[in-house]
Amino acid sequence: MTIDLETVARERGIKSFLISYSDLFGVQRAKLVPTAAIKGMQKSGAGFAGFATWLDLTPADADLFAVPDPQSLIQLPWKPEVGWLAADLWIDGREVEQTPRNLLKKLKADAAAKGFQLKTGVECEFFLITPDGHGIGDAADRQEKPCYDQSALMRQYDIITEISDAMLALGWNPYQSDHEDANGQFEMNWAYDDALVTADRHSFFKFMAKSIAERHGLRATFMPKPFIGLTGNGCHAHVSLWRDDKNLFEDESGDLGVSALGYNFIGGIIRSADALCALFNPTVNSFKRINAPRTVSGATWAPNTVTYTGNNRTHMIRIPEAGRFELRLADGAANPYLLQAGILAAGLDGIENKREPGKRLDINMYTDGHTVKNAKKLPLNLLDALRALQQNTVLKERLGVFVPAYVKLKTEEWHSYARHLTQWERDATLDC
Ligand SMILES: [Mg+2]
Repeated sequence: MTIDLETVARERGIKSFLISYSDLFGVQRAKLVPTAAIKGMQKSGAGFAGFATWLDLTPADADLFAVPDPQSLIQLPWKPEVGWLAADLWIDGREVEQTPRNLLKKLKADAAAKGFQLKTGVECEFFLITPDGHGIGDAADRQEKPCYDQSALMRQYDIITEISDAMLALGWNPYQSDHEDANGQFEMNWAYDDALVTADRHSFFKFMAKSIAERHGLRATFMPKPFIGLTGNGCHAHVSLWRDDKNLFEDESGDLGVSALGYNFIGGIIRSADALCALFNPTVNSFKRINAPRTVSGATWAPNTVTYTGNNRTHMIRIPEAGRFELRLADGAANPYLLQAGILAAGLDGIENKREPGKRLDINMYTDGHTVKNAKKLPLNLLDALRALQQNTVLKERLGVFVPAYVKLKTEEWHSYARHLTQWERDATLDC
């Protein structure tokens, strides 16, 4: 049944809608539309000049239309008179294929045609910092090993519970929140769901955490490594593949309770891991989280090598229990739609081509990683990751026109970074 947004607005007291989309860099763009105009917008979309955002369009391109998906409607918990809508992008009556939500929807439809549905949960880590971005939001949060710090958690009770209560009211089934491994760092978990639902919620969560923190005089950041000596912001994903109500990764007789199909899916991720970094670790700063030296707390909790294991957090992929795995590669900067799209594309390649993940390693990678021979290393910087993506035929084929568009814009970003003269260079080179 079609949802009529004008009727819904009247029933729920919505005065305006934010018609929102995520561009290739994960920046959320929106137009604010009064309810009186939503009927036309629901049909034809809100108009944008696409070139003005990160989509690889030109100023000469025709109007970009963001057509809202009524299923994604969320009333802003902190301002219920506004309804947020995730949108799909169109130009000249055609879907803009390289845009993240359109891309995920296409991959989701391809998977569905083969009888597969990806379900994921994401673990969003973020810091609460001062508005100027330089300090931890709570000056008393100074423990050397701050993970699960009860008092520091309770000092941010008002912000954390406002977000958690909002998720409860939205029906996301949040189940826990904690202080994470860095000073000022928190994580909030809600139930896993269909990959597109999770991607929409993940986008909205970032918007919500930032908005609510701001209302309390602080700033929420998902930056992968905002403080060099502290643990970074990961975005671990818990992955399973379903057909109807059956989890296809579950197999009592399989190693660790995971089916052969599940291991093939993992094999696909392992095969493309270096290229996936371009999507999962999409900023210059991302590579200060993976491949990082030990933090003050004792561990980075981030991988540097392409390996998998059982219930052991020192590897890129962990199988904590039967029927699912945790991918620990992505960070807080990952575009929620591209995170799901990358998992799906690489995983289905693994299934279709029966990729083997290799031998499971049951060692502490942080202390004994050097003893592992022949395991692929993760890229050391964004440029290497982009080159790996460019060379990955599997992802190029499955992600289509997205790959050249993304590589082009991200390479420009790399050049913009490389043009900066840093203090480190001056310190290390002035007396050369
Ligand atoms: Mg965590």
